[in-house]
Amino acid sequence: MLHITPIPAFQDNYIWALGIDDKVWLVDPGDGEAARQWLNSHNKQLQGLLITHHHADHTGGIADLQQHWPALQVFGPGPIKGITDPVAGGQTLALGDMTLQILAVPAHTLDHIAYYLEPADDHPGALFCGDTLFAAGCGRLFEGTPDQLANAMAAFAALPPATLVCCAHEYTLANLAFALAAEPDNPAINERLQRARCQREAGLPTLPSTLADELASNPFMRAHEPAIQRQVNAMTGADAQNALETLAALRRWKDNFRG
Ligand SMILES: [Zn+2]
Repeated sequence: MLHITPIPAFQDNYIWALGIDDKVWLVDPGDGEAARQWLNSHNKQLQGLLITHHHADHTGGIADLQQHWPALQVFGPGPIKGITDPVAGGQTLALGDMTLQILAVPAHTLDHIAYYLEPADDHPGALFCGDTLFAAGCGRLFEGTPDQLANAMAAFAALPPATLVCCAHEYTLANLAFALAAEPDNPAINERLQRARCQREAGLPTLPSTLADELASNPFMRAHEPAIQRQVNAMTGADAQNALETLAALRRWKDNFRG
């Protein structure tokens, strides 16, 4: 049976574990010790690592895990230390009975890739998007451009709405506060905010979300909405005239937003 589990690490990171039965692959193991503790307590056999981009909170555990599993396969963008199997957008990976497509999504960083687990009869698809897309938000543009961010959002929007969105940080509540500022009249945001508050009060992750959730309430996937364009212009003094300019203005606004 397929399983997909977020393993909390550091302050607000998630290392995603995915696999079938006792076999497991880990996405973005920033913290090797947190990963090993989870593997031990869940009796899972580590098969390999999937890396989305070079930031240390996603790659910091690679060396530790390679020490314990010297033959470990590490997939990811080529130049990162510890990668044994460089991969790039357009490739397909077969991991056990799972098929994953690699999507090139430069934006947050230029090397950023995402892994899309294709759906099967017994499970929906799942997107491991690192720091490109967050629940109700997106990653900061440290290296890429708004144009590239728009391309990444379009690539995600083309996936089936039932796709599970497995992002690498628990930023949902803060992102929803911003989403509400960007689109105050969207009832899906309030509804999601209530759901996320209940989950956090119960000590639960708000993830995975679904692509349908993001299409309904994530302003960075909704920059084509005239209401958002009007709001970002009114609130920031921007003069966005189209979806791309709205997306760029939203990202700048969010960079300085204090809910
Ligand atoms: Zn990052």
